Amino acid sequence: MNCNSCNNQLEHYLTGKLDEDIRLQIEEHLAICKDCIESLNLLKIVESVISEEKNMESNPFLSTRVMSVIEQIEQTDKDSGISAIFGKLLKRALITFTLAASLILGIASGSLIRPVDYSEQIPEEIAYLNDSYIESLEFFAE
Ligand SMILES: [Zn+2]
Repeated sequence: MNCNSCNNQLEHYLTGKLDEDIRLQIEEHLAICKDCIESLNLLKIVESVISEEKNMESNPFLSTRVMSVIEQIEQTDKDSGISAIFGKLLKRALITFTLAASLILGIASGSLIRPVDYSEQIPEEIAYLNDSYIESLEFFAE
């Protein structure tokens, strides 16, 4: 197995959705290839950020936390000399993900206050949360 086919399978490898023989080929390759191990570690970071976001109830620190992961990746980048292109792609993917998450949450919380019939029933906490999403998005857009 070469690096290309290994990289193509890493995501499936992480989710455990691979046939036994392919999984073994990947593990054999990972045992001898530092680059692919690093790609695997980056994928694990991304997966953990995404699953963490899925479990989150509010996101006032979303941008901050994603940015800190990006900085972590950039640091890894410098330390290990991993492919700069892969790092840039990953950074772009994380930024896109953050913007999308902020927008979706903004739209979701916006829809809570839009219907006139419900507008007087909105607890202060929700109005406050809505503000924090907007601030978070603006902060990120700068
Ligand atoms: Zn490799």
